[in-house]
Amino acid sequence: MKEILYIVIPCYNEEEVLPISAPLFLEELNLLISEDLVSDKSRILFINDGSRDKTWDIIEELSRKDEHYEGICLSRNRGHQNALVAGLTEACDKCDITISIDCDGQDDIKVMKDMVLEYNNGCQIVYGVRNKRDTDSVFKRATARIYYKLLRVMGAEVVYDHADYRLVSAEVLEAFSDFKEVNLFLRGLFPLVGFKSTSVYYDRHERLSGKSHYPLTRMLSLAFEGITSLSTTPLKFITGFGIIIALFSFIMIVYTFIDYFMGNTIRGWASTNTIILFLSGVQLISLGIIGEYIGKIYLETKHRPRYIISKKTYEEDEDL
Ligand code: UDP
Ligand code: MG
Repeated sequence: MKEILYIVIPCYNEEEVLPISAPLFLEELNLLISEDLVSDKSRILFINDGSRDKTWDIIEELSRKDEHYEGICLSRNRGHQNALVAGLTEACDKCDITISIDCDGQDDIKVMKDMVLEYNNGCQIVYGVRNKRDTDSVFKRATARIYYKLLRVMGAEVVYDHADYRLVSAEVLEAFSDFKEVNLFLRGLFPLVGFKSTSVYYDRHERLSGKSHYPLTRMLSLAFEGITSLSTTPLKFITGFGIIIALFSFIMIVYTFIDYFMGNTIRGWASTNTIILFLSGVQLISLGIIGEYIGKIYLETKHRPRYIISKKTYEEDEDL
């Protein structure tokens, strides 16, 4: 009995690219089935992440045309990471392996075969890693490089140049379901789940059509999410920073005393002012970072659902 593979694809306002990329996914899946690498029960599962365009209509249409296409529709836009978890959770009980991939054709579909072969070699997680980033701008490449370094320094384990193109077995997903947090940065979470893993390499292409949903602001917020949801090192920085400032203040107090006893107290008004301003700045930044964590604690305590599925293209089997 061959493994059942679910290809999990989040889609948000992708009416332009979906009609082009969906047949490519099916072609690749059929190839894997014909080579007897995966079962014919394998599926391509689209997650409509609250799109405002015709994305869901296209998904419904596809699922009517070929039984290998399936789709679920989230009740509103919840963001790429949540949409992905929705798909993986949905697929978890029905399959043996999942491969998550974007629907825009940027990630090389051909390496799915290598991923499945690595799974057959005993790897439970296979990370898709970009070989070159020629299609990304110099700015995106440089910032990504700095960002991955920063994450490592902060103690978060991430696979360099890996986004969300990866094979994950149902067994790993089962374990992952115990990670109850709401703030998600999946590429940092899967290494935490453990299990045997490896990487396969590919060249990243341009989008087949349509536009990226990650402008600079959204990229920065994902980057920030990554750091604050995986690491508490920024909190330790505050402590370190606090010690340095305290030492500095001590030296300044000694200096003020000497100045006072030498009868020069009028002088120094400017420096005092500068110190006050500097310290208020530091305090504000520190409070901001602490506030960020408190905000997260607040959200976690609410135990809000990550997503709500409003529609499915298929009936749920009662006997299961
Ligand atoms: N996406 C999503 N919800 C969102 C934003 C994006 O499901 O709120 C999906 C999108 O349809 C695509 C994937 O996430 O399949 C990656 O998005 P995109 O290609 O725009 O990002 P980029 O590759 O430019 O970083
Ligand atoms: Mg993309």
